[in-house]
Amino acid sequence: MNRIYLDYAATTPLCEEAFVAMKPYFSSAFGNADSVHSFGREGEKGLLAARDAIADLVGAQSDEIYFTSGGTEADNFALKGAAAASDKRHMVISGIEHPAVRAAAGQLRNFGFEVTEVAPDREGFVSPDSVREAIREDTLLVSVMWANNVFGTLQDIPALVSAAHDGGALFHTDAVQAAGALEVTADCGADMISFSAHKMYGPKGVGALYVRRGTRLFPLIAGGEQERGLRGGTSNVAGAVGFAAAFGRAVKNREEETGRLRLLRDAFYSAVKACDGFRPVGASDFSRRHPGNLCLRVEGVTAEQLIVALDMRGVAVSAGSACSARQSEPDGALMALGMTRQEARECVRISFGKDTSPSDVEEAAAAFADAVNRLSRKR
Ligand code: PLP
Repeated sequence: MNRIYLDYAATTPLCEEAFVAMKPYFSSAFGNADSVHSFGREGEKGLLAARDAIADLVGAQSDEIYFTSGGTEADNFALKGAAAASDKRHMVISGIEHPAVRAAAGQLRNFGFEVTEVAPDREGFVSPDSVREAIREDTLLVSVMWANNVFGTLQDIPALVSAAHDGGALFHTDAVQAAGALEVTADCGADMISFSAHKMYGPKGVGALYVRRGTRLFPLIAGGEQERGLRGGTSNVAGAVGFAAAFGRAVKNREEETGRLRLLRDAFYSAVKACDGFRPVGASDFSRRHPGNLCLRVEGVTAEQLIVALDMRGVAVSAGSACSARQSEPDGALMALGMTRQEARECVRISFGKDTSPSDVEEAAAAFADAVNRLSRKR
């Protein structure tokens, strides 16, 4: 059976460029980047070059890039690192954040921090005015994601940055889904930006936090002096090198790839539009959502039923964040749009990527329509 992967928002396959760049660091250039001998220097050289390349791609200085184990750690580092370095005791996050931000904020609550959650509108947009209203004198940080991982809605980051800064707060954005597919640079004004390599055809287990110079952070992982003393642990040189290669490739191809993904996404949408009782979730203006994201709710059919039915037809889609995919609870971001638990359970995410072809879209859309029709008839 031909298998069609339409879950690029969960993870992406490693691109050839990253694979080739990483290989030497698993064999001849295996040295610990902190060792003083020539083996170590080789590792250090790879790490420095990767940091410089990523800094260049995001319009930052090299010393503003901190490597992490991925997007989850970058989010935790931003929220908890900032909280531990400040006397301020209040934070604002949006209601549609990834579990990495929500759970980090939840832990801070347990340590006496107050967290205000700002509700989005029904399409997932977070208004700068609602952020302004939530900010208090003791607000340390505002965190709003760039592109939502379930329904793809894109935020007006510069406007949200202004709202935070006008209120004297720092601004963090989780750009894990956006980076690579869209232009994400320090020019947006954010003080911290989270990245993850495996969403842009890089390796799993590596990411970065951009930290604007002058932003105070406490080290989340205590240990050695790696990452300028802010993140202990032997450096993942191969991961960083693969991340830089994948990021470079993504930025180089971005414009062309974004246009191609939009066409594929729109073609899928047009092909399944006639399905009974179904509606798009997230931004109705498709130019204001991630180019590779489609999220649909099929009334009366649970995402779980549809995912299994599609899997049996060789098509891989998902219900929401892979981090919560095995839980019976629907993704919190969907309920933040004002859906009931049952409605949120009926949402599937279809995400397109570099290996998706027009014929994949045609085949997957036919499988989708067939599965929906059969499942609807069973109701
Ligand atoms: N933030 C967002 C928006 C994501 O989509 C993900 C991954 O699903 C993460 C954070 C976590 O990134 P990682 O898997 O690198 O820990």
